[in-house]
Amino acid sequence: MLIVCAEQARVEAELVDGRLGCPSCREVLGPWGHGRERVLRCRSGDRLLRPRRARCRGCLGTHVLLPDLALFRRQDEVSVIGQAIEANVAGSGFRSIASRLGVHAGTVRGWLRRFAERAELIRTHFTRWAVVLDSELGAVMPGGAGIADALEAIAVAARAWVLRFGPGDPWRIASVLSGGALLATRTTPLPAVS
Ligand SMILES: [Zn+2]
Repeated sequence: MLIVCAEQARVEAELVDGRLGCPSCREVLGPWGHGRERVLRCRSGDRLLRPRRARCRGCLGTHVLLPDLALFRRQDEVSVIGQAIEANVAGSGFRSIASRLGVHAGTVRGWLRRFAERAELIRTHFTRWAVVLDSELGAVMPGGAGIADALEAIAVAARAWVLRFGPGDPWRIASVLSGGALLATRTTPLPAVS
């Protein structure tokens, strides 16, 4: 799986031109049909995704190209999930967050639990990214292990990304930098920082 820009025409052009790299071996990806259709619940309403599938010319592995609006195995837009995480760090419980966002309470509880389980992994990963993107940040990064520090590391990395590449939604940047695996299964590693 590879996280790409949400603009399908641009992704298509990059894929056909051989400008997308394989997340496993970095060789060139070529078009390889489509992944299965899925509904992404977005703030602006449901959106039907028909993600492109690509095949690597090097390792022959296939990858689904998921837009940066989404996270792997999550049905809701990443910025909605991010809002829930921010509210939780600010002290709200899953039930009140769920009713505010109009999402099932069990779904929100699942996001928050997974974020807490992966907090240390997430903090370390985004801290590395922040320093890669802005080498002057080294000394000011958080050092704790809780959800607040994980969220802070995401925010710092996203700011460093924006300074370098221009404006972007922090949670979409978080999707890209985590390879869509921000809230993946407990044991799924985050992709190497490069
Ligand atoms: Zn490959």
